[in-house]
Amino acid sequence: MENCIFCKIASGQIPKKFRYQDENIVAFDDINPQASTHVVFIPRDHIENFEMLTDDSILASVRRGMQEVVKEKKLVGRGYKVLVNGGGAQVVEHLHFHLIGPIGLKI
Ligand code: 5GP
Ligand code: ZN
Repeated sequence: MENCIFCKIASGQIPKKFRYQDENIVAFDDINPQASTHVVFIPRDHIENFEMLTDDSILASVRRGMQEVVKEKKLVGRGYKVLVNGGGAQVVEHLHFHLIGPIGLKI
């Protein structure tokens, strides 16, 4: 997708430090973090939103990547949230999963 900011990040056109990457997804720090750890996991391919997702291997990658970051960021036992916005609550129209913690905020 030509004008999609997350496609540009996934392809490396906009340079980012990836917290996790594999054949399906990349993960990077949110530009406007809601907690000290706020990492966004996105499919490499442009999938608009959660209801368009059919490929379960993306979910498997998100699980692996999030579990790694949870351990690296020492979030085990400290409270974190996994969030997907959709249906009008989503701002960037490229599917993404937020990992946010440690958590005191209510979302
Ligand atoms: P949404 O509201 O669509 O679920 O979340 C979009 C998220 O992407 C927001 O948390 C926002 O801060 C983040 N974001 C938007 N543009 C950029 C960007 O260019 N770089 C990074 N790292 N995060 C972005
Ligand atoms: Zn995209």
